[in-house]
Amino acid sequence: MSFVAEFNSLPVQTLLRRSPDITADAVRRSLAKSKSSLTDFAHLISPAASEFLEILSQRSRQLTQQRFGRVIRLFAPLYLSNECVNNCLYCGFSRDNPILRVTLSLDEVKQEADALREQGFRNILLVAGEHPKFVSNDYLRDCIAALHPDWPGISLEVGPLETADYRPLVTAGADGLVVYQETYDRGVYAEMHTAGPKRNFDWRLETPERAYAAGFRRLGISPLYGLADWRYEAICAAAHADYLLRNCWKAALTISLARLRPCAGEFQPLTRMSDRDLAQLVCAFRILFPDVGLVLSTRESPGLRDVLIPLGITLMSAGSHTEPGGYTGAGREKLHQTVRGRIVELASGASEWAPQPNRVTNATGQFEIADERSAGEVADLIRRLGYEPVWKDWDAALTA
Ligand code: SF4
Repeated sequence: MSFVAEFNSLPVQTLLRRSPDITADAVRRSLAKSKSSLTDFAHLISPAASEFLEILSQRSRQLTQQRFGRVIRLFAPLYLSNECVNNCLYCGFSRDNPILRVTLSLDEVKQEADALREQGFRNILLVAGEHPKFVSNDYLRDCIAALHPDWPGISLEVGPLETADYRPLVTAGADGLVVYQETYDRGVYAEMHTAGPKRNFDWRLETPERAYAAGFRRLGISPLYGLADWRYEAICAAAHADYLLRNCWKAALTISLARLRPCAGEFQPLTRMSDRDLAQLVCAFRILFPDVGLVLSTRESPGLRDVLIPLGITLMSAGSHTEPGGYTGAGREKLHQTVRGRIVELASGASEWAPQPNRVTNATGQFEIADERSAGEVADLIRRLGYEPVWKDWDAALTA
């Protein structure tokens, strides 16, 4: 049975309806347990549990140090392409956004990756919009194969594929697959995804299982907070993680903590999740899943990232760019504009596309990042907090 069947019978609404009525005593009882259930998790993210944030933080910090030590793994996203056939209202790469697009060549991908390697990174996340013509399966395989000799950790965040199409990517050297469900609310999902293959909710929901069957040894999931009620999303993500831990148990699992950021199209979040809510959620996830990696990206501000590190985060991006060519300017001479998915001539001298100071390319990013510190600055901060930044945590020789 896939997670879709389990998801369809989840008592999420029951858990959620009770959330405002959860009492402090119920929170205390859940905190007293040595092993938490989904019901306990719902208690720990309830409004009542927000008053227990100090206790939640201590428990979460202690569990994280027991299971992971005082280390933070670092990774960098490398955007291969911002072409996309989908319309996702909250994303800068949406097909109908009239943005500047490019797909990097293999040499340009290497150029970007080499710049990240020089900064110290050994874990890379290859990101691309979903576009079978520009971002074909063969293109992805060739990118992975080109990077594999220099990169012990290669993860993908690309359009979902069939198991058979994932296998050559694993063989080429990819070991991780990240897929955001975006929202676990079917109604909101249908409203947000107005065109393209991504409209198929169930197909996306089953992606981690197909990736696992193909041999990926790291799986990452997450909602994008800001579309539906954050507590609903968190309960569904927890149920999803629980399913994957039971059924895809050979893979290491991560859950991201990602809130919506400003992007082209100027979509405004539909729901609010405060910084305090986010901190509470980090702790609740850690207490429910002591061994699951928790990921925090540069979507969050430096101040908040610094505070969340000791609470339970185990994996962070740093110095990120969300536009293809953002690290070195690779591909900038090939930029083209699309209007409703069609390439149009750029008006010569159009001032809105004039080179910007502090930017090496004018390719449009997926969203604005909030933590603009360099990777080195983030690593220094991690050390000052008493943690060790880890750039490389795997070697292909370990699987030989
Ligand atoms: S979220 Fe992904 S699929 Fe949707 S428009 Fe952005 S890149 Fe394309």
